[in-house]
Amino acid sequence: MRTRIEPYRIKAVEPLPLTTRAEREGALDAAGWNLFRLPARLVTIDLLTDSGVVAMSARQWAALLEADESYAGADSFSRFEAAVREVTGFPEVIPAHQGRAAERLLFEALVRPGDVVPGNTHFDTTRANLERLGARPLDLPVPVALDPSADAPFKGDLALGDLEDLLDARRPPLVLMTLTSNSTGGQPVSLENMEAVHRLCSAHGVPLFIDAARFAENAWLARERDPRLAALSPAAVARAFFDLADGCVMSAKKDGLVNIGGFVALRDRAVAERIRAAMVVTEGFPTYGGLAGRDLDAMAIGLTEVLDPAYLADRIASVRSLADQLDQAGVPLMRPAGGHGVYLDSRAFAPHIDPLALPGQSIACELYLHAGVRTTEVGQLMRGRPQPGGTERPVALDLVRLAIPRRVYTCCHLDYVAEAVRDVFGAPERLHPLEIVEQPEALRHFGARLRPRAAVAVG
Ligand SMILES: *Cc1c(COP(=O)(O)O)cnc(C)c1O
Repeated sequence: MRTRIEPYRIKAVEPLPLTTRAEREGALDAAGWNLFRLPARLVTIDLLTDSGVVAMSARQWAALLEADESYAGADSFSRFEAAVREVTGFPEVIPAHQGRAAERLLFEALVRPGDVVPGNTHFDTTRANLERLGARPLDLPVPVALDPSADAPFKGDLALGDLEDLLDARRPPLVLMTLTSNSTGGQPVSLENMEAVHRLCSAHGVPLFIDAARFAENAWLARERDPRLAALSPAAVARAFFDLADGCVMSAKKDGLVNIGGFVALRDRAVAERIRAAMVVTEGFPTYGGLAGRDLDAMAIGLTEVLDPAYLADRIASVRSLADQLDQAGVPLMRPAGGHGVYLDSRAFAPHIDPLALPGQSIACELYLHAGVRTTEVGQLMRGRPQPGGTERPVALDLVRLAIPRRVYTCCHLDYVAEAVRDVFGAPERLHPLEIVEQPEALRHFGARLRPRAAVAVG
């Protein structure tokens, strides 16, 4: 059969908010043309993020009731620990309430002020956690990662020559490989690159960790693009990556298929004991780590379900199908499609808007006004705030991210999204330059208020 069907049927439904254009105009105006400030009940299809917005399975919901909420030594913890060991092979398993908490626990145990911590490309919270400890995060992506139109298979890889130079010059406390590379568009890391990074780290005595937020999507994409891996199960491919590392941090809100949760897992018992001693003060006892027993059970099941080949085949095909529909309509995209979303190339999409007049945000706003679809700008608004006293310059890449939640939307929903993007692309006159009215000092995209530039008074 050629028709792609979701490999699940629907047992509980939630109505989609349906609104009129006039309602959306009022809402966007009240939100200061900032989609983070919109009430979610006025969003029809929400592609703001793929984090924590998964639909859990019937098995996960059933496990919530069976969970053991004992303070210490709960069965839920034993099941969780067994599942993480099975998937990763790491013996020491420490739960945390989400990915950034896991990062904080690991880095506080290993990183000192003045350290440099290299990786393929660190995620924003990873950078922030390192900077908070006085360390310097260092991104070493392969050059092709920075060219949105280059259709290379492994744009998540790390530049090996740069890492070797760094390791010859100094000894970082760890190297971190992010699978898939979220900040460069959900692009996969190849097993070959991971093996080479492992060899360099071993030769220099530096521990190698994985940021495993999307380890299963990475395994699937690696399996598709590397003939050596084609005959292996996704679980075996994922394990081949973990086998090369000393440990991992995980945001289970992505490939853990849960609404909240995370963990640190590693081989070094002494480091694990240091983390356990420290976490009691801030995260909770080491067998619950800031979570309820039911959250641990949901994660244990999610980690197994995410490696189901039928699930992964559908997940990757649905993202790719959205990208292909847009590509065929000539919409400029980041190539190839990433594991968890599709990224529009804003400057090529809206060349008539000056890069400093926020073309990406303008596209994101019109997608909402036209069809009630919420996306995120990852460009001038998010990354362009100048240093105090400086002037704003165009950022390297200006993108709009359509992040696809896991198991939430059907093929039909994504066809609707494709139509909305094509419509907006076909009517550039509806895209207006924007200006910032007020902006917070840090992470301005979350709180800024904007308005259409030189708006002509009507009426
Ligand atoms: C989301 C994410 C994190 C942080 O996890 P949270 O659960 O949001 O705290 C870390 N790394 C990557 C690659 C992520 O995508």
